[in-house]
Amino acid sequence: MIKSDCLCQKNSLFQPKIVYENETVFRNFNSVTIGRCINCGLLKTVLQPKNKFNPQTTHADFYEEKHFLFVSLLQPIVDQIKKYKKTGLVLDVGCSSGILLELLKKEGFDIYGIEPNKKAFLISQKKFGGKIFNGYLSEYIKKKPRGFDVIIYNHVLEHIDKVVEEINLIKKVLKPGGLLVIGVPNINNIIFFLRQKYWEYLVALEHIWHFSKKYLVNFLNKKGFNVSEVSFSNDRRPDYPILKRGYFYFLSIINKLFNTGELMLIVAQLKYDKHD
Ligand SMILES: [Zn+2]
Repeated sequence: MIKSDCLCQKNSLFQPKIVYENETVFRNFNSVTIGRCINCGLLKTVLQPKNKFNPQTTHADFYEEKHFLFVSLLQPIVDQIKKYKKTGLVLDVGCSSGILLELLKKEGFDIYGIEPNKKAFLISQKKFGGKIFNGYLSEYIKKKPRGFDVIIYNHVLEHIDKVVEEINLIKKVLKPGGLLVIGVPNINNIIFFLRQKYWEYLVALEHIWHFSKKYLVNFLNKKGFNVSEVSFSNDRRPDYPILKRGYFYFLSIINKLFNTGELMLIVAQLKYDKHD
C-alpha cells in the first residue's frame, strides 16, 4: 500500500494496480505505479521518490503544426458550449497555443486564457495579447477577474495534483449557472481494458488522476455542479499503420455500442446554491 492524498480524503491508501518496471517501452517510467484508492476506487499515479512528474509538458509547436487537425478535434467543444451559451466571458485554463480560443472568438465569445508553460503562453499571447495569463488559476484569481460564463479544462484536470482546491477556485470565478467544460481520458472503455499500461492515454508520468465517467460525474455533483451532458470520442490514431488503425476502429465501435469512449467531454453547470 502507498500513502497519498486522494480526492476523497487526505492520506488515503493506494493499492498498486499498474506498475512499470524494467520497461523497454517506457524506459524512464521505472517503478512508476498507478494505484487504486482503497476508499473510493479512484486510480492515481503514486510516484516513488526517484521519479519526477512533468505536469507542464506542452505540445504547443505540435498543435500549431497540425493546426487543421486540432481545429477538427476542438470544434466539438465549441459546438457543445453553444448549446448552452451563445455569448459571454470564456476562460480556457491550460489554453496552450490558443487554438480553442481562436474558434471561440470567431463565435463571438469574449475569450481569456491561462497557460503555465512559457513557450505555449508566448504563442497564445501573440494571438490575444493581454487576455492571456502566464501561470495558474491560483495566481490569476488574485488579479480579481470578472465572473466567467464558461470555464474550460481540456486535457488539464488530470494533470492537476490538488483538484479539490482547484474546483473551489473555479467556483469563485464561475458565475452561478455558468458552465464548466472538462475534457479528460476515460478509463472505463474497452481500449484501456485490453491494453492496460500500454493504453496511449494513460501517460502515467504526466497524468496524476485516471478518471472514469461515473467517478468524475459523482465528484462534480458533490462539489456543487449539475452535470448536464457527457459525450465520448475515440482517437482515430491517423499515424498508425493501416491494420492497427482498423483494429482501433473496431474497438471504437465496441466502445460506442457500450455508450463509452477513450475520451470524454463533460459539461456541468454551477448550481445557484453552490455550497457543499
Ligand atoms: Zn479516494
